[in-house]
Amino acid sequence: MMIDPDMLSDPIDRAADILSKARSVVALTGAGISVESGIPPFRGKGGLWEKMDPMEVAHIDAFMQDPERVWNLLIKDMKTVLDKARPNPAHTGLVELERLGKLATVITQNVDGLHQLAGSGDVIEFHGNFAWQRCMECGRLRRTAEVDLTRIPPQCDCGGILRPDCVFFGEMIPTEAMVRSQQVSAGCDVMLVIGTSATVQPAASMPFIARDNGARVIEINPEPSPLTGRISNLPLLGDAGRIIPQLVEAVKERLDSP
Ligand code: NAD
Ligand code: ZN
Repeated sequence: MMIDPDMLSDPIDRAADILSKARSVVALTGAGISVESGIPPFRGKGGLWEKMDPMEVAHIDAFMQDPERVWNLLIKDMKTVLDKARPNPAHTGLVELERLGKLATVITQNVDGLHQLAGSGDVIEFHGNFAWQRCMECGRLRRTAEVDLTRIPPQCDCGGILRPDCVFFGEMIPTEAMVRSQQVSAGCDVMLVIGTSATVQPAASMPFIARDNGARVIEINPEPSPLTGRISNLPLLGDAGRIIPQLVEAVKERLDSP
């Protein structure tokens, strides 16, 4: 078997080489990038999956059948955790990459708003944002942080039930987010895939679109995903909060002394 000499060098160095020469970089992020901000993911180590089946509880049919149950099992705890979550070094590292001209757009599957809070300039929210709750009767929006939880499910003044203004399993992706994500995925020459199990469609198809249009796909995750070795040819195995700052430093060194 031939061993590619490239394979012998440090993966962070190889990724930094690729990024420093890149023309247009896009990141696809998932729940894993926010784990170090104290938000549990659905799958993987410490994921909610171990306690319940999110595909069932976070499905629109489950919510419509019994909003009280879904509020009690999932949404109430999410509110408590997300109300106080702050960006971690992975989020701020992506902001630095953007300042270096090495990240144009973040497509995120997360609903926690942490990329924006960290300062990322162009964030596509593929699954909406948990910061707002929408009345299912009159459509009025109110801030999640201001919703009173003494009565579950919480209600609007009009008596309608409140639901998070994000995409449940079984619901459509907002059209603009879908179209822009496909465009930027097709147009990038490097895609960073960070902290996603790459199992939730159609978000998981973005790395395929990037790859089909000639982009290099670099993955940052402590565990391999279904993309690893097939779509992503460069896995950086480890926690995003540790790997991304190292990657940013290595890119800076190369840009400072080309
Ligand atoms: P997922 O829960 O399916 O997978 C999480 C992935 O993150 C796993 O592959 C795991 O190995 C990896 N991971 C764990 N710790 C990590 C770390 N420190 N650094 C990097 N990677 C780490 O997540 P998903 O693919 O985003 O799909 C879940 C769906 O649930 C998404 O659609 C999302 O909308 C929603 N969700 C959002 C949040 C949030 O907003 N923070 C949290 C949970 C779930
Ligand atoms: Zn209402």
